Amino acid sequence: MKVVLPDGKELELADGASGLDAARAIGPKLAEQSVLVKADGTPQDLRLPLADGQAIQFLTTRNTDDPDALHVLRHSAAHLLAEAVRRLYPGVKVAIGPPIENGFYYDFEFPAPITDADLERIEAEVNREIAEGRTWQREEISRDEARARFAAEGEPYKVELVDTAEGSISLYTQSHDGTDEFTDLCRGPHLQDASPIKAFKLTSLAGAYWRGDEKNTQLTRIYGTAFYAKADLEEHLNLLEEAKRRDHRRLGVQLDLFHFSDISPGSPFWHPKGMAVWNVLEDLRRRENAARGYVEVRTPQIYDQELWVTSGHWEKYREHMFTFESEHRTFGLKPMNCPGHCVLYSAGAVSYRELPLRMAEAGVLHRDELAGALHGLLRVRMFSQDDAHIFCTEEQVADEVLGCLDFGYAIYEKLGLEIDVELSTRPESRLGTDEEWDAAEGALRDALERRGLAYTVNEGDGAFYGPKIDLHMRDSLGRSWQIGTVQLDRQMPQRFKLGYQGNDNADHTPVMIHRALIGSFERFIGILIEHFAGAFPFWLAPVQVRVLPIADVHHAKAQAVAEQLAGYRVEVDSSAETVGKRIRNAELDKIPFTIVVGEKESDEALAIRERGGEQSTKSLSELLGLLATLSGDK
Ligand SMILES: [Zn+2]
Ligand SMILES: [Zn+2]
Repeated sequence: MKVVLPDGKELELADGASGLDAARAIGPKLAEQSVLVKADGTPQDLRLPLADGQAIQFLTTRNTDDPDALHVLRHSAAHLLAEAVRRLYPGVKVAIGPPIENGFYYDFEFPAPITDADLERIEAEVNREIAEGRTWQREEISRDEARARFAAEGEPYKVELVDTAEGSISLYTQSHDGTDEFTDLCRGPHLQDASPIKAFKLTSLAGAYWRGDEKNTQLTRIYGTAFYAKADLEEHLNLLEEAKRRDHRRLGVQLDLFHFSDISPGSPFWHPKGMAVWNVLEDLRRRENAARGYVEVRTPQIYDQELWVTSGHWEKYREHMFTFESEHRTFGLKPMNCPGHCVLYSAGAVSYRELPLRMAEAGVLHRDELAGALHGLLRVRMFSQDDAHIFCTEEQVADEVLGCLDFGYAIYEKLGLEIDVELSTRPESRLGTDEEWDAAEGALRDALERRGLAYTVNEGDGAFYGPKIDLHMRDSLGRSWQIGTVQLDRQMPQRFKLGYQGNDNADHTPVMIHRALIGSFERFIGILIEHFAGAFPFWLAPVQVRVLPIADVHHAKAQAVAEQLAGYRVEVDSSAETVGKRIRNAELDKIPFTIVVGEKESDEALAIRERGGEQSTKSLSELLGLLATLSGDK
């Protein structure tokens, strides 16, 4: 038989040859370094047979960034972890242990709770196993055999997995010097032996329900990671350290911006300083909307189910909505502003001369996100978007979409944000005809190309009513979050029977563009906190200037300085701490300017300390000039 190599050359092999045989046929070095073969793009265990005509590609210990190469390494490391845990904690039951982004986990039911201190001991045991050496053997057995085997080992989770597994049952046994140490139910693929695992680290402990269902037993999840090189692990740990430093949940509390309470899961309590940041963005939203021809509207929070049936949300989005009964009617709390805007639009007769009609509303929205999916400000149940809906004619679509992108980029560039652009196309479950989807997807592509934006295509990820351009940013861990979106919709205007009188005097249906550019204020602020590590630019900082009187007698003087900075967000810190301590606090609070006022300071000579430590003496008027420049284009 023949297989095709990445360079297009064909390789002749004996029938039934494995990936490893193919690697050996190319050269001993490749065979030694290979960890996985991709057969027609699917990662496969090196020992499994290849099929005639398959295109193959080897992943080696040199592919240290390839997600599949890392997955096979980390998944194998997870099996080593399970072996170690079983040896150290007799009576433990093993559940599942998949690779994940940045590492792996394994779930166990321990006979007694374990703590972080146990992780060190387990990690040492795994490192001992790696040093001792482990090889993996794969075998396929019948379902009955597998069930009997795991039942005899007292592994109820594995028995359940055998019962629910699809297809054939395969086992991986790790052994050393001919002694079998641990056998796991696993589809693979796996390394052939543990020697490529050059760095192994357990990172944290968490609780997790069996199969993610809170009705089931709570298990202990051990997270870890592994790498092909020690230096890669060090780099990863440095990144984690940096991410922790930037984590908006930690900084949100430290900087007194917001907090969460279990009394209302997923709904932030905004503190005055958090609201200061919010209001700066809200002002920006208002000003830019006005400058770009948007009108502000306000629509209800609660609607009869009838509205959601018309909009299609009842059919497609109900599981994410909060609903309730009142006076024998079923109501839904709005998860989006659009249906309300359609009702508002339909209240008046609209002529083509009034289009495009750009309706903006930063209304409060609620979505019933699963508790497990909530994540600080980045995924919440209550939020407000810089939402707007543009009703326009078919001919106006391209310019309007372009206008949205220009608007968005004006904000992103002002903040120095890097945005990943995605075009999401028709999902499986959708409203509308294929022709309508073709036209809508084409219009979005055109706008992206006219603005010269690089974008990736997310096949099948569009909204049920239309395709969309999604604008993403990354958090401190490199995870991508959607912030803005521009969505084309021909469905909702039809469903609400919206119309306008064209210049031909006939009735037409407008196109609706849903757009949010910063997305939810909650998520945007969360991402900004991580982006700036809490050190907001001057114009956005919750407290812009802090004045510190050296002693009690200087309080009035400090107060007078603060008053002369009216219009800026200024506070006076006359707490009983030493000046040194208060300066350090200002630094920890990431305040852009701190002014120390004592005996020798006056309006002609103020002692100014900038965030980061730079010190200078400026007159009050020089300072006012500097602050005006810094907030210049806010
Ligand atoms: Zn496995
Ligand atoms: Zn909308």
